[in-house]
Amino acid sequence: LDYPTILASIQEELRPFWGQGKVADYIPELARVSPDQFGLSLECSDGRIFELGASTTPFSIQSISKVFTLVMAIQCLSEKVWTRVGVEPSGNPFNSLVQLEYEEGVPRNPFINAGAIVIADMLVSELGAPKEAFLQFMRSITGEVGFSSNEKVAQSEKEHGFRNSAMAYFLKSYGNLKNEVEVVLDFYYFHCALEMNCRQLAKAFMVFANHGCVLQTGEKVLSLSQTKRVNALMQTCGFYDESGEFTFSVGLPGKSGVGGGIAALHPQEFSVSVWSPRLNKKGNSVLGMKALELLTTKTGFSIF
Ligand code: GLU
Repeated sequence: LDYPTILASIQEELRPFWGQGKVADYIPELARVSPDQFGLSLECSDGRIFELGASTTPFSIQSISKVFTLVMAIQCLSEKVWTRVGVEPSGNPFNSLVQLEYEEGVPRNPFINAGAIVIADMLVSELGAPKEAFLQFMRSITGEVGFSSNEKVAQSEKEHGFRNSAMAYFLKSYGNLKNEVEVVLDFYYFHCALEMNCRQLAKAFMVFANHGCVLQTGEKVLSLSQTKRVNALMQTCGFYDESGEFTFSVGLPGKSGVGGGIAALHPQEFSVSVWSPRLNKKGNSVLGMKALELLTTKTGFSIF
């Protein structure tokens, strides 16, 4: 496949969509990002990398981090993870409280906020220093050291995270949060505020396209069956309550975040990351979704 030509034509066809959508503003520090930016990085399973635009500009990965904390929880606890969090799409907004009440404190899946907070709680229990372990994990799967969590963003989230606090206390009332709410949320905001660029994210997601192993080092991160499960969850739950739409129009497992990033993969073919801060009404990057739809259409590589 002639990826440079395909990417150039994607860039061209994205033109009419520039300026559509709005930057997330419920986290004030995120609203400060300049909205009209776009980057893409595609890594093939043979290690070649093809890119467009601002592919090395760091951005707040937000909910994409939930995939990495899930992987760490699976490494620590294996099947026990699924006793405290489910594997069904929620069909509700990512920060919804109602579902949590009628399902008695067991979040639908690890990618809605309540689920990710339970995962954060598991890691706080399992790891002596979860923040350091998280950064170390990210370094080991990307082979890069140059990224960190943005303290201002984490602080801004903390100051405005009333819903997340409500959810965490709610989880505690059902016995599904073992540590102190503040400690768990401190770690949760830390991992959401991690900054990475498209190139680093594509590298990180290559693990899920490469049988659970780091491409460059061969290090095993997940077993084959665990990799299948994480990919399945991304496919069914990775895009808020637009996971069906993403599957329909793009057809790849992936995960989005309110910072405007999306990372996705095609098993054995490629991993890809896009970033553009303007979001549609469901919270997914407008240009990012369109770029990936064009990518799977033009390459013929969707998993369906
Ligand atoms: N840290 C964000 C929150 O808790 C994550 C949102 C997202 O990217 O979906 O609201």
